[in-house]
Amino acid sequence: MPDWYELPDDSGQPGLRFSCTLCGNCCTGPEGYVLLSDDDVTALAARVQVSREDFLARYTKDTRRGLSLAEKQSPAGLDCIFLDRDKIPGKAVCGVYEDRPAQCRTWPFWNSNLHSRFAWDRAKRGCPGMDQGQRHSVQQIRICRDTIDM
Ligand code: SF4
Repeated sequence: MPDWYELPDDSGQPGLRFSCTLCGNCCTGPEGYVLLSDDDVTALAARVQVSREDFLARYTKDTRRGLSLAEKQSPAGLDCIFLDRDKIPGKAVCGVYEDRPAQCRTWPFWNSNLHSRFAWDRAKRGCPGMDQGQRHSVQQIRICRDTIDM
């Protein structure tokens, strides 16, 4: 049986729409985590031009779920350490966008959001980019879903 997002929606097309609005909701709030793989650490250390050891010491923290990006206090809460609120007034921009971790690259196409329309709609309450803008194909969605166990 096909998954719900593989069926045509009201526009007659399968897949899901998502375009980030740069609101920053998913990169701030109460204490959270952005889990890091070895490949993520390698890419990010190169991006900020420090050794892996320096990167781990300066930009990460250990959590119950594993190694995570660190956070910094902002008026909105605890921001991801790479969230940039100065670059575009009124927006929250990822400072390492091209090398962002898999957890961020695959949002919102996580299994936890895809297992039902209800789960998708629930996640949508915090992410105004879901069901807006660019349509992503079923194949693109599956690749994201299967990249990381979220
Ligand atoms: S909550 Fe959604 S729209 Fe807002 S920054 Fe995150 S991905 Fe983009």
